[in-house]
Amino acid sequence: MLKFLGIGSAFNTTLGNTSAFIKKHCSILLIDCGSTVFSRLQKLGLLSDVSYLYIAITHTHPDHIGSLGELIFYSHYALNCKPRIFFPDAHLLSSILDNMGVNAEFYEILSSPQIKISDEFLSSADLTFIPSSHVERIPSYSILIKCENHSIFYSGDSNKISDSILNSLENGYIDILYQDTCSLDYTGNPHLYIGKLIEYVKPSLRSKICCMHLDQNFERIYAIQSGFNVAEVIKDL
Ligand SMILES: [Zn+2]
Ligand SMILES: [Zn+2]
Repeated sequence: MLKFLGIGSAFNTTLGNTSAFIKKHCSILLIDCGSTVFSRLQKLGLLSDVSYLYIAITHTHPDHIGSLGELIFYSHYALNCKPRIFFPDAHLLSSILDNMGVNAEFYEILSSPQIKISDEFLSSADLTFIPSSHVERIPSYSILIKCENHSIFYSGDSNKISDSILNSLENGYIDILYQDTCSLDYTGNPHLYIGKLIEYVKPSLRSKICCMHLDQNFERIYAIQSGFNVAEVIKDL
């Protein structure tokens, strides 16, 4: 249900910074807007007919907000629309944008951890922000998205999957879980090592998990042979 503009980690620019979207007619919900994202939106012509732009941000690392300033400027000057940005720490994000020189009147930040989008085309979409385990320096979130009778868990950057999320996946409360997964295993890793994912998740649940935020050494085949899915970058619309 989510389409991906990129599935890579911060340094894996070949696969693009991880970012997903849902687009219906002239409404788009974008998750994260890292450094490579604005150029991919442009290349795909995704913004050409957009009138309503919603942007959910998981955290403020550059691979998640690096081109957010450009997107806001473009929305204002080229699309004549005011993006609604969802992020629980509004002050943190607005001060970053302010320091980039982005006019606060060009966007709106909604900081409630529970968001109900009422949009003519996306119909209703509910977003719930849940703190994720990533780094200590900045807050980061996973997002539970309920849209069109689907329940999607988007991990954002996270080195863990909680037992309650795994239970929800098992009980069918969550249909699909997109998980930050990496090929490296070291102490203090802010991302989830594929070996730990294998350890945490029993084989019967693995087909409901889709790996994303992949580093250069990530072995797609190994993840698939272990029973997981791996996100794909959209090639054209
Ligand atoms: Zn991060
Ligand atoms: Zn990241």
